[in-house]
Amino acid sequence: MLTQSPKGTRDIFGREMPLWHSVEAKMRALCDNFGIEEIRTPVFEHTELFLRSVGDTTDIVQKEMYTFDDKASRSITLKPEGTAGVARAYIEHGLFNNAQPTKLYYIQPTFRYENTQAGRQRQFTQFGIEMFGSYSPALDAEVISVAAQLIDELGIKDIELRINSLGCPECRAKYNKALREFIGSNIDGLCRECRARYEKNPLRVLDCKEEGCKKIIAGAPSIIDCLGDECREHFEKLKEILDSMGIKYTVDPMIVRGLDYYTRTVFEFVTTSIGAQSTVCGGGRYDNLIEECGGPKTGAVGFGLGMERLMLTLEAQNGQYDEKPYRDIFVGSMGEEGFVKAQAVVFELRKAGIMAESDTVGRSVKAQMKYANKIGAAYSMVLGGDEIASGKAVLKNMDTGEAEEVMLEGIVDKMKYIIG
Ligand code: ATP
Ligand code: MG
Repeated sequence: MLTQSPKGTRDIFGREMPLWHSVEAKMRALCDNFGIEEIRTPVFEHTELFLRSVGDTTDIVQKEMYTFDDKASRSITLKPEGTAGVARAYIEHGLFNNAQPTKLYYIQPTFRYENTQAGRQRQFTQFGIEMFGSYSPALDAEVISVAAQLIDELGIKDIELRINSLGCPECRAKYNKALREFIGSNIDGLCRECRARYEKNPLRVLDCKEEGCKKIIAGAPSIIDCLGDECREHFEKLKEILDSMGIKYTVDPMIVRGLDYYTRTVFEFVTTSIGAQSTVCGGGRYDNLIEECGGPKTGAVGFGLGMERLMLTLEAQNGQYDEKPYRDIFVGSMGEEGFVKAQAVVFELRKAGIMAESDTVGRSVKAQMKYANKIGAAYSMVLGGDEIASGKAVLKNMDTGEAEEVMLEGIVDKMKYIIG
């Protein structure tokens, strides 16, 4: 208990960290480039916000939320997704008064009480984008292009963009009727949950992960056939813009996404390299959400991308990340005087931006050199009474074994010169 993290959570550290850092840096640089600003919203929100936005027939609300009462009996929920919090902030701070669109991104922990397996955790990390203030399919295309460009820059090959349109509530009503008829005549083959979903929200049946249900669903009517003129036009224009941007996609009428707030465009980036949990990124348009939450009627589009699944995909493709350790210099020491001096020299070097290490454990000189090798030090020196008295020390190139005498006073400049 004390030595094991809670089920569905994990520590990210060590060899994994450089990959996280480089992927996050790419995401931030890309967002800068696209004019998307970062927003950091709280880790928890009023439960009501998710009931209202995510939808109370969804798996997230019915089974997956970390909900608790705080000490003043307010119902609080740890964020199960990113859009609701950002939508709340957009309204709270009157961001709709600014020139639109408003373009925001976040990289944040997300919490869902799920059955854990590879690619499915209880705390995971989402990179998300939300764009508000336009009904044009150009905004859908812009959001999709962020994910497409990221995937391209990361060099991920085996991933596919699938798009669909869920239409507006009117198209949806028409489709629900057709879908209910279809499900009604296949009800015996469906799982128990789907039989309940069929009454309340038949669309959810299309999102079921049970193999038996999936087989039946494959023959369901297509929502695209139920789209009205305007929704159809929106979808056609989106495809035209994606084509003109050179972004490849396939239309998949079975994509419905696990959240109720989507209208018109929905999309997923799906990979073939990480098994069952293969949706790395999912998103869509949500034109009614801001109004539902008490703001003005506002067109909006966004996506959420699972960082852990992205890392699994990268690893599956590129193999384990195995970066060699590296330090510019190890300043070893002999005797008390040298030990104290080495700490000061290393601090001076670090202030000058040089990656320096000293012995802070009290190792023998021999053990210090072994350690210097382990941490990948490019250079080393050892400070003792003689070096301090003469003001000179021997700087050794750990690769070639070459050694030269240097003035201790000039060590910062010398290292700056060497490292360039
Ligand atoms: P799934 O169908 O796999 O359950 P979802 O439809 O619930 O996914 P979204 O709510 O759209 O997923 O979340 C966006 C992304 O967040 C997913 O595409 C996935 O990469 C990631 N994600 C969702 N749930 C988890 C989880 N429990 N653990 C790790 N990543 C997750
Ligand atoms: Mg899910």
